[in-house]
Amino acid sequence: MFIAGLLTLIVAIVLFFISGRQRRAAGLPSGRVIYIDTRVWGNVEKPLFDKDLGLTGKPDYLIEHNGKIIPVEVKTGRTPESPYDSHIFQVAVYCLLVQKTYDKRPSYGIIHYPGRDFAVDYTSDLENALLDLIADMRINEHRSEVARSHEDEQRCRRCGFHEICDQRLA
Ligand code: SF4
Repeated sequence: MFIAGLLTLIVAIVLFFISGRQRRAAGLPSGRVIYIDTRVWGNVEKPLFDKDLGLTGKPDYLIEHNGKIIPVEVKTGRTPESPYDSHIFQVAVYCLLVQKTYDKRPSYGIIHYPGRDFAVDYTSDLENALLDLIADMRINEHRSEVARSHEDEQRCRRCGFHEICDQRLA
């Protein structure tokens, strides 16, 4: 489906959808609606990187709050009723990278949609699902093609790679 390349955040998210570990997603947090004060957002100057996992990513903003560092991902377009799975994983990656970079574990990350903000709790279940995803990515990263592993049209409609995926269902 996609040419596998660098071990990056984007690949991680793609592989979530094509891996056989989607069942772990059943335990993903759904996101809590919150109010956030955009005046305290701090720009991120360079990507966060963890060499042990070979993972890199750059949150849109970081917030310092009560001694913790909270990553923020800003999304444009339609505001969903609850965050998309791919966005939850993206925030989970940032939480993991914040923990590795600053040695402080965020208890949650934030997804900012135009009409609503969600806090995504960075639970141990979410972290484990993410680590499974990264392990799958390691297995699949040298394959040039990976077959779709589901029959869920809705998943394809909501997928951020819908436009470029030659295996989409809708
Ligand atoms: S469009 Fe569908 S098949 Fe393609 S990556 Fe997304 S979820 Fe998978």
